[in-house]
Amino acid sequence: MLNIDLHSHSSCSDGTLTPGQVVARASERGCKVLALTDHDVLLGLPAARKAAIEHGIHFVDGVEVSVSWDGLTIHVVGLNVDPDNAELQQGLASVRSGRMRRAEAMAADLLRAGIADSLPGALAFAGNKDMISRTHFARFLVESGKVKDIKTAFKKYLVKGKPGYVPHQWADLNDVVNWIRNAGGRAVLAHPGRYQIGKARMQRLLVDFKAAGGEAVEVVTSNHTPEHVIQFTRLAAEYELLASCGSDFHGPGEGYADIGRLPDMPGACKPVWHDWAIVN
Ligand code: AMP
Ligand code: MN
Ligand code: MN
Ligand code: MN
Repeated sequence: MLNIDLHSHSSCSDGTLTPGQVVARASERGCKVLALTDHDVLLGLPAARKAAIEHGIHFVDGVEVSVSWDGLTIHVVGLNVDPDNAELQQGLASVRSGRMRRAEAMAADLLRAGIADSLPGALAFAGNKDMISRTHFARFLVESGKVKDIKTAFKKYLVKGKPGYVPHQWADLNDVVNWIRNAGGRAVLAHPGRYQIGKARMQRLLVDFKAAGGEAVEVVTSNHTPEHVIQFTRLAAEYELLASCGSDFHGPGEGYADIGRLPDMPGACKPVWHDWAIVN
């Protein structure tokens, strides 16, 4: 099957490699079609596209947008978006604008828990200071010896109910899907198996996503179990959504899957790329 990876991050958001390095790694590992989908930012796309041409692989302009839906944070990937689209650029700028304030509040909270200087510490890991994220705080907590790894940093400090967690209002689902569609892209519900919601709420999410204009769902992604793959293959068919796949690569040894090593998508799925000229 075609080695295709439609979800990855660079140092323009919370990945550790530059866009050019992400593309080089994808190419080395046999990936033929790659989307860079940095959180809330399009900054890395031109450099990634240039590198993809040099390496002879197909490149898909992407983004992963942070959304608040029904009190939950969810992620919506946009594929084949126009990086020059002004409405999308402005929308993403508005999503990013609250990040520094949230980071300051997180640092204040961590200080109360006895951890000093976490904001400069986190910023030192941010390749793009405009896109400061919890991942950068996690890397600081590991580096300063507070926790042994990124996973523990999230478990002990950066999730709901722990010091260092600050709730945040992200973008509206309808707005985000509209930005993506108006920029010529296709909206994909990212890693649905990661949302800790029951069956009824998942169905409501799929109904709302589809009503907003969403067209696809990630069926194969790094922390989907084989059961998730079966579940979302079925739900995609039921809700007439296309299926996508992506590693959610953040960097070598960063916990999520590495680029170009995903299980095949089940044959029953209709791939999000079924009508893309570059793969057909
Ligand atoms: P933010 O958008 O700043 O809230 O950060 C979200 C990012 O944190 C995600 O994109 C992941 O890269 C990372 N993340 C969230 N939860 C975990 C976790 N349990 N373990 C490792 N990384 C996580
Ligand atoms: Mn991330
Ligand atoms: Mn995500
Ligand atoms: Mn991601």
